[in-house]
Amino acid sequence: MIGIIGGGPAGLSTAIYTARAGLTPMVFAGSPPGGQLMLTSEVENFPGYQKIMGSDLVASLRKQAEAFGTKIIDDNITSVDFSNEPSVTTSKQTYIFRSIVIATGAQALWLGLDSETRLRGKGVSACATCDGFFFRDKKVAVVGGGDTAMEEAQTLTKFAKKVIVIHRRDSFRASKIMQERVLNNPKTEVMWNTSVIEILGEQKVEGITIKIQNPTSKIKNLTLDGVFMAIGHKPDTEVFKNAVATDEKGYILTSSIAAVFKIQNPKSKIDIDLFDMKYQNMTSVHGVFAAGDCVDHTYRQAGTAAGMGIAAALDAERWLERGEK
Ligand SMILES: Cc1cc2nc3c(=O)[nH]c(=O)nc-3n(C[C@H](O)[C@H](O)[C@H](O)COP(=O)(O)OP(=O)(O)OC[C@H]3O[C@@H](n4cnc5c(N)ncnc54)[C@H](O)[C@@H]3O)c2cc1C
Repeated sequence: MIGIIGGGPAGLSTAIYTARAGLTPMVFAGSPPGGQLMLTSEVENFPGYQKIMGSDLVASLRKQAEAFGTKIIDDNITSVDFSNEPSVTTSKQTYIFRSIVIATGAQALWLGLDSETRLRGKGVSACATCDGFFFRDKKVAVVGGGDTAMEEAQTLTKFAKKVIVIHRRDSFRASKIMQERVLNNPKTEVMWNTSVIEILGEQKVEGITIKIQNPTSKIKNLTLDGVFMAIGHKPDTEVFKNAVATDEKGYILTSSIAAVFKIQNPKSKIDIDLFDMKYQNMTSVHGVFAAGDCVDHTYRQAGTAAGMGIAAALDAERWLERGEK
């Protein structure tokens, strides 16, 4: 039997493939289940669906996985032990598996305003690639000052007529080249020393209240159609901290990513010999695989997460078939 931790597009795609391969998967879908797609409204870029609500897409993947015999438990894994036969523990029980796929995703970081939560999917987003298309010829803001914020702003200039980057400091943290792209783009404007203190609008975003710190503190409203938070992401991998190798931000390293990581960071302490390069989606622990946003901080899409979930399923299937240890 195979255990899958995570009930988003990565974990459920692994489930569909491993169920059809007769590996009787058990998915721990988390509590609350569903992952990041539950935070958005319409998804228009998942292949096969012209338009679908994020929650309906998750429901459809769950239904397909269950139709092939997947058992889904809507509970969190609170600890794991990969030192022998891999086991996972919920608040109620410990389960032992022959192989495990980790697909616990990541979380966008938010400002923590009530108005931000209320207007998520109604003009508040954390994904320009996903939602930029809905802001054609509109005025939007990007909150943040790192590489992600620069990328989000750059992406949004393809759609929006005006992109205001709001940053709480007087300089960006982003790499110089990324900063220059934003600063030289005629559609972008930067507001330094500025923070967002409220998001305005009842049914959808109509503006924001900002606090400008320099030279004196000033509060002001801006009329806008959308706000993109780009203040970082955090992988949901705390529970695997000492069980599998991760990068310094906690993203799980799989063989293919560890190889690239080692080339890019030759001084890193990652022991590349722990990884079996025959299985690109296997972690530093043999028999434990990983997929989706808990591994990938580059693409972060439902489609890419599903693809990684499928690849992890095929790797796990081959690993089990060959009886490897
Ligand atoms: C606001 C927003 C809008 C987006 N819009 C789009 C879009 O339009 N199109 C698109 O392609 N992508 C979109 N994305 C990105 C997309 O949602 C993610 O790339 C995708 O969901 C990642 O899939 P995943 O399965 O790796 O992780 P997630 O979807 O994050 O799923 C992780 C799963 O793991 C579970 N979990 C976490 N910890 C544990 C634990 N300890 N035990 C058990 N389970 C656990 C969670 O409950 C969840 O079920 C959007 C993201 C955001 C934030």
